[in-house]
Amino acid sequence: MTNSPAPLHQLPDADFYGFEDLLSDTEKDKLAELRRFLAEEVLPHAVDWWNEARFPTDILPKLAQLELSTPVQQGYSPLFAGLVIAEMTRADTSLATFFMVHHDLFVEALHAFGSPEQKARLLDDARALRITGAFALTEPDHGSDVAGGMSTTAVRDGDTWVLNGAKRWIGNGTFCDYMVLWAREPETGRTRGFLLDATLPGVTRTRIENKTALRTVQNADIVLTDVRVPQADLLAGVESFDDTKQLLRGSRIMVGWQAVGAQLATFDVARAYAVERTQFGQPLAAFQLVQQQLVQILGNAVASTGMLARVTELEHGGYAVPSGEDAAGGDAAPAGAASGEDAAPAGGARGDMARAALAKSYASAKMRESVAMGRSILGGNGIVTDYRMAKIFADAEAIYTYEGTYEINTLIVGRDITGVSALR
Ligand SMILES: Cc1cc2nc3c(=O)[nH]c(=O)nc-3n(C[C@H](O)[C@H](O)[C@H](O)COP(=O)(O)OP(=O)(O)OC[C@H]3O[C@@H](n4cnc5c(N)ncnc54)[C@H](O)[C@@H]3O)c2cc1C
Repeated sequence: MTNSPAPLHQLPDADFYGFEDLLSDTEKDKLAELRRFLAEEVLPHAVDWWNEARFPTDILPKLAQLELSTPVQQGYSPLFAGLVIAEMTRADTSLATFFMVHHDLFVEALHAFGSPEQKARLLDDARALRITGAFALTEPDHGSDVAGGMSTTAVRDGDTWVLNGAKRWIGNGTFCDYMVLWAREPETGRTRGFLLDATLPGVTRTRIENKTALRTVQNADIVLTDVRVPQADLLAGVESFDDTKQLLRGSRIMVGWQAVGAQLATFDVARAYAVERTQFGQPLAAFQLVQQQLVQILGNAVASTGMLARVTELEHGGYAVPSGEDAAGGDAAPAGAASGEDAAPAGGARGDMARAALAKSYASAKMRESVAMGRSILGGNGIVTDYRMAKIFADAEAIYTYEGTYEINTLIVGRDITGVSALR
């Protein structure tokens, strides 16, 4: 009997229940192509980008060549779309975040709410990453309560709109060409969406410095001072804040997939370390307490994957009620409404948001547990980015907070299952 662990290449993959077996052959090939790209172009550099807080714009043409923009619209399965985000996160959470902000928020918004002219002008370039986009909703004074509290204003003046206000945390905000920006008409309270040309006079973009998570992502503070936006850049299809919710529900699920990816990365790194590192004359993997943690990380990752796989299917399988149908005057959201939530009566669309919220909150809580164990398994080396685990650990905090914090998503579910809102 020996305590030497088997070579890593003989050990099972983190996809312990074979979710990837559910993909078509074309999808499996595409996922393999993505993995090659990540192994060659991303993994060798991701820690340096993170340490230097530098976004690698030079890899965007190669990323675009994978043609993975909004996969479901291209005919891929919802599971494949989720696994793409998980796999990107497994290599680098920041790259996945860039990708999601651009494709799942900016491109999706353009696709869903753009006029035929706007789509003809921008959609092909956006899908091919010839132009980059951001999504500007959060404000310095309104994060979780932005639905009811949004203070950025849009006032119509002839054939232009005049925008004033501030946005915070806007991913890709320092270098993007356009942002989908949300503002409120002061007189009516109606939410409007704009395809804001980020170079317009009156737009100031300042990089948020000294972050301890997602350092590669360029988040910006945006200030808008009498910015004149042509009527042609008003997002034509936006009726109310409910339309924002439709987008956020989809991207909330994709952030849940990021929590899956972070756990797969944790499993990769922690298991490899446990197998290779020796203490007391044994590999760490030979200690029962270490095995227990690795098994818990794996169990958390598999459970999160199962949950996300199902909710992604539901999201694309038609559980959505058309926007606004059950949301009495979506723009009349009370102060305290949460990250795209309002006080809509019980009904389908709210239940759909609750399902997305449960997947995101559950997976991100499990992720936090998993990354803490992974970091611990690496001992002191778990707090230097050289061994990857410290970066995975730190980035998990952003996943826990954005697209509705853990608490807000929990309260969305709580409201749904009790009929009583604690969101105030
Ligand atoms: C790295 C990163 C990237 C981001 N990218 C973008 C982006 O691209 N575009 C964009 O628009 N936004 C973006 N955000 C903003 C993000 O969505 C917000 O940070 C998030 O919604 C929380 O808002 P807040 O940070 O203002 O926290 P707050 O709303 O101030 O909340 C602080 C704490 O209070 C808790 N809390 C608040 N209200 C309640 C309540 N009613 N009950 C219980 N607890 C409550 C929260 O859960 C949290 O723990 C990003 C954020 C980060 C960190």
